[in-house]
Amino acid sequence: MVKIFIDPGHGGSDAGAVSNGIQEKNITLQIAKKVQDILQNEYSNVSIRMSRTGDSTVSLSERTNAANSWGADYYLSIHINAGGGTGFESYVYTGVGTPTTTYQTQIHSAVISSTNFQDRGKKQANFHVLRETTMPAILTENGFIDTKADADKLKDSSFITSIARGHVNGLVRVFQLEKKVIDSGNDGTALYKVQIGAFKNRDNANSLAAQAKSKGFDTIIIQSGNLYKVQIGAFSKRSNADSLASRAKSSGFDTIII
Ligand SMILES: [Zn+2]
Repeated sequence: MVKIFIDPGHGGSDAGAVSNGIQEKNITLQIAKKVQDILQNEYSNVSIRMSRTGDSTVSLSERTNAANSWGADYYLSIHINAGGGTGFESYVYTGVGTPTTTYQTQIHSAVISSTNFQDRGKKQANFHVLRETTMPAILTENGFIDTKADADKLKDSSFITSIARGHVNGLVRVFQLEKKVIDSGNDGTALYKVQIGAFKNRDNANSLAAQAKSKGFDTIIIQSGNLYKVQIGAFSKRSNADSLASRAKSSGFDTIII
């Protein structure tokens, strides 16, 4: 198991940067939760802890202590920039060597390619969360909250997903995370899977999955050949699959049972 500690910056009484009608603490939590969701839904050999899962005040020492005592393999701190500018930058601790800088390179480039953020470069800084963690650590600054064009992107949930997906893609490469294999039951019984769509483009699958989630369905995206299949359930009893399919149909989804 690879243990990833995810740290959504700020929270509670510390809003972080605030501008253009949004608060850094909320955006960092949205991104962090999305990273957690994707990792847990799609990858098998990863275990996640978060420095916070709601709008709570957590000190910097509490964050790094939690990661250190858990024995995390990696510390990912998520922030939004401010002060005028645009794009993405990432930080590791000053003077640190490999593997931390190698990990930074992978995650940095994965976020840039997933978001098309302007690349402000890979940087080093003496930040508490980078200095006081006993494992490799990175801090990412995902756009500028006080630049309207960046703030507008950060208000869009599909863009939040792109940011999260970029971080995940980097983590997958760094730690060789393994895709979950979901297939007919281990006990040999066939499963009836309720599928609401299949796409060549991952983003289309993500957006359909998000729609289904917002309507209360559990979703999973399964990669099969060159298709991303969006499924909302798998059952050993056909009648259970039928009843979920009809619930999905009445919520407006095209469903097939495979
Ligand atoms: Zn911050």
